[in-house]
Amino acid sequence: MSRTLPNIIITGTPGTGKTSHCELLAERTGLKHLSINDVVKDRECHEGWDDEYQSWIVDEDKLLDAIEDEVKQGGYIIDWHACDLFPKSWIDLVVVLRVDTATLYDRLTARKYPEVKLQENIDSEIMDVLLQEAKESYDEEIVVELQSVTAEEMESNVERIEQWLEQWKKNNAT
Ligand code: ADP
Ligand code: MN
Repeated sequence: MSRTLPNIIITGTPGTGKTSHCELLAERTGLKHLSINDVVKDRECHEGWDDEYQSWIVDEDKLLDAIEDEVKQGGYIIDWHACDLFPKSWIDLVVVLRVDTATLYDRLTARKYPEVKLQENIDSEIMDVLLQEAKESYDEEIVVELQSVTAEEMESNVERIEQWLEQWKKNNAT
């Protein structure tokens, strides 16, 4: 499949910094920030609201149908706390953001997460769930794990992804 621009997934446990990274990266590169949260909500790719978790119950088939035509064109930064649902052929780079437990606790508490969701997300981060999911779903060469505790780290992460993008463009120039 040929795309003139790549597709990047920015994934990680909620609170690791996905949306912040996507917004900065979109601003710097012109790639489009695709918030899966918004797609699920706005295009109703869900089977209702889960009250305990305070989140939508995602209908993955509906979600993939909703974004397929756009994403296949290339040039998207996908912002979502899962990555195993997107077909391998759509994706050129998978960034997994990581933070320490204390930082995550503070960020999720500030967001007033329900207790059950808070604990589950902290466990998930401790157990490397997203990193494993990324490695199992994509070729290891395209999976990159990056720390996202400080603003300096976010800055250097975004610079690194910008450099990767420039290299991708060179490699894929026709
Ligand atoms: P996610 O989209 O993964 O849930 P957000 O981008 O919404 O995460 O970030 C959660 C909170 O953590 C926000 O308040 C954000 O400003 C802060 N944050 C995220 N990444 C960093 C970072 N690298 N340095 C400092 N603060 C960060
Ligand atoms: Mn987010």
